Amino acid sequence: MTERKRILTGIRPTGALHLGHYAGALENWVRLQHDYETYFLIADYQVSDYADDIKRVRDAVWEVALDWLSVGLDPEGSSFVIESLVPEHTELATWLGWFLPVAMLERNPTLKAEMAAMEEPEEGQERKPVPVAFYTYPVMQVSNILLPRAHLVPVGEDQLPHIELTRETARRFNHRFKEVFPEPEALVGRVARLVGTDGNAKMSKSRGNTIDLKDDAATVSRKVKRMYAGPPRELDEPGNVQDNPIFLYLDAFDPDTDAVAGLKDDYGKSGVPNKVLKDRLTQVLNDRLDPFRERRAYYEARMPLVRESLEAGTNRMRIIARETMEMARDALDLNYLGKY
Ligand code: ATP
Ligand code: MG
Repeated sequence: MTERKRILTGIRPTGALHLGHYAGALENWVRLQHDYETYFLIADYQVSDYADDIKRVRDAVWEVALDWLSVGLDPEGSSFVIESLVPEHTELATWLGWFLPVAMLERNPTLKAEMAAMEEPEEGQERKPVPVAFYTYPVMQVSNILLPRAHLVPVGEDQLPHIELTRETARRFNHRFKEVFPEPEALVGRVARLVGTDGNAKMSKSRGNTIDLKDDAATVSRKVKRMYAGPPRELDEPGNVQDNPIFLYLDAFDPDTDAVAGLKDDYGKSGVPNKVLKDRLTQVLNDRLDPFRERRAYYEARMPLVRESLEAGTNRMRIIARETMEMARDALDLNYLGKY
């Protein structure tokens, strides 16, 4: 049998996962998990913006693992990894930092936007100084991807600059030393960036504009009722489909595409009350989430199984991590003690 190619991807343990994670990333992970050797990382080194709330991070490690199990990731066929329990991540990141010009971080649009949001927050949000570890988190991500020598990285659109950085680093390293790292490809999900329930461009844990994978039916219904649905309209007033993000959600999650096309048509011609759209969306989302809720309940009643999946996956990553570090040290010719 030929060796399977590898996937590395991950999520920060900052809270419960939401529909954006699902449509942007998790759905691909579930689909590809058996075709590749897969490593799913809980990236706890990369939450320095939550340094004042370690309890949240600790709880979120379990939240994320439960969410992964609930969407159908298989903890035996794939590996769930806790980043900081594989210290080779920091070791490799330190070496790789030698070959990454600071200018490449300064140019990184995702990092720039995230740092700006911390330093000059929107009204009502707290200003946070940017920790050193936040500034260098893309380097850690490069290390995350290169450590298992991954070929494919399924992620949401905002991660693309980090993957470009990874490709550049792999190219530089391989060219200067030895061919150690495959140049990984990015794979963006069906919905590159799902909007938030408030109409903001990105549904995000940090903004509190999410519908979570673990939300119960009543919570989904309540959140959908409060969703932004475009500029105010009379009940029977025609509207612009593009102005109403409810349609983005129907496009993303409603399996009956003909019915959605019909609704769009009516909406533009004779107007469709937002309540009709929202009731439909509530139903569609609850149908999607029901199987997740069932699996989640199964694992919530068996938390030692969740712990085992984290432990086993982390141990599998440690083996490949040591192997890669040997290759990298050999390529860098760092065997100091072998001299005498
Ligand atoms: P935070 O706001 O704490 O950064 P996040 O919601 O951005 O959280 P991450 O852990 O940073 O979550 O991202 C995990 C993965 O999910 C990444 O691949 C990211 O691109 C993807 N993702 C997150 N939010 C969305 C979204 N709204 N639409 C599509 N993909 C998303
Ligand atoms: Mg993020």
